[in-house]
Amino acid sequence: MRRVYNFSAGPAVLPEEVLQEAADEMLDYRGSGMSVMEMSHRGEIFDGIIKEAEQDLRDLMHIPDNYKVLFLQGGASQQFAMIPMNLMKNKVADYIVTGQWAKKAYQEAQKYGKANKIASSEDKTFSYIPDCSDLPVSEDADYVYICENNTIYGTKFKELPNTKGKTLVADVSSCFLSEPVDVTKYGIIYGGVQKNIGPAGMVIVIIREDLITEDVLPGTPTMLTYKTHADNNSLYNTPNSYCIYICGKVFKWLKKMGGLEAMKERNEKKAAILYDFLDNSRLFHGTVEKKDRSLMNVPFVTGNKELDAKFVKEAKAAGLENLKGHRSVGGMRASIYNAMPLEGVEALVAFMKKFEEENL
Ligand code: PMP
Repeated sequence: MRRVYNFSAGPAVLPEEVLQEAADEMLDYRGSGMSVMEMSHRGEIFDGIIKEAEQDLRDLMHIPDNYKVLFLQGGASQQFAMIPMNLMKNKVADYIVTGQWAKKAYQEAQKYGKANKIASSEDKTFSYIPDCSDLPVSEDADYVYICENNTIYGTKFKELPNTKGKTLVADVSSCFLSEPVDVTKYGIIYGGVQKNIGPAGMVIVIIREDLITEDVLPGTPTMLTYKTHADNNSLYNTPNSYCIYICGKVFKWLKKMGGLEAMKERNEKKAAILYDFLDNSRLFHGTVEKKDRSLMNVPFVTGNKELDAKFVKEAKAAGLENLKGHRSVGGMRASIYNAMPLEGVEALVAFMKKFEEENL
């Protein structure tokens, strides 16, 4: 068996011990005689798995009792529609556009009401987070929307926007559980799990209870109504049960690692190794404003497309995979999520140093 250091933006690296445990339990989950993917989602065993997963997530994020945790299908992208369908009572929402994912959410919301772009960093190819301390928030806005960590561009909100009392909705797909958060500052926190938490195909939505109502836009399908899933504890239909099981294991791993404070420290340490190298390199450089740098996604370039391609190819041969930047940006991107070990980042930097010496 050969495991590489996988810098993919998602689906992404998972903790090795989680994968090993799942492998050990594959054919016979704890004496049940079947795998978790073969068992009824309404049976006693799965009931225990989903309840424990939710409780562990609540413990990790200190989620208050007046928030529901939903395990839903459709990925993060489905939330781009589900949010306005459920929240746009006044048919007005404000969007801060800091990358492709925020832009897609903004464009989708336009189908359902008046979506205002109240700030954007598109003028400099999304390489920074705009000042959000005093934005022209609409008086009748149903919510203010952000993408908290921009997976493609490698920027992160270090401070939440001043929403002037309006409900904050945040896509945290690529920074989920990477550091502590104050859940009470948000109306909805949601993210696809395929980056920091588990396999693809599921989104976790943490939603304040007063936002869960029957008063949704006319024509909203039952499956796209938060209330349907909240009333049925994410078991209205057959959920992505195997994904919930793996996510549950990752939550346990995070608890064992010391929780989100410890993850933050570990992530800061990992990112610093890479950013320090980039800041001192004569060949490579980072592409975003230093103050807005993400701890999770680190884009960088040499400034020469052929050299970038050579780097990606040689890195792969050295066991450092998926370093090619997003197709819309080019260059390289190292995603260093929770499960990327420190040694992986050290190996990447050592390889970059060698490449720099050979190619300057
Ligand atoms: N939001 C962000 C920040 C993302 O990075 C992604 C996926 N890369 C998405 C949304 C879309 O997620 P999904 O593919 O699960 O719909």
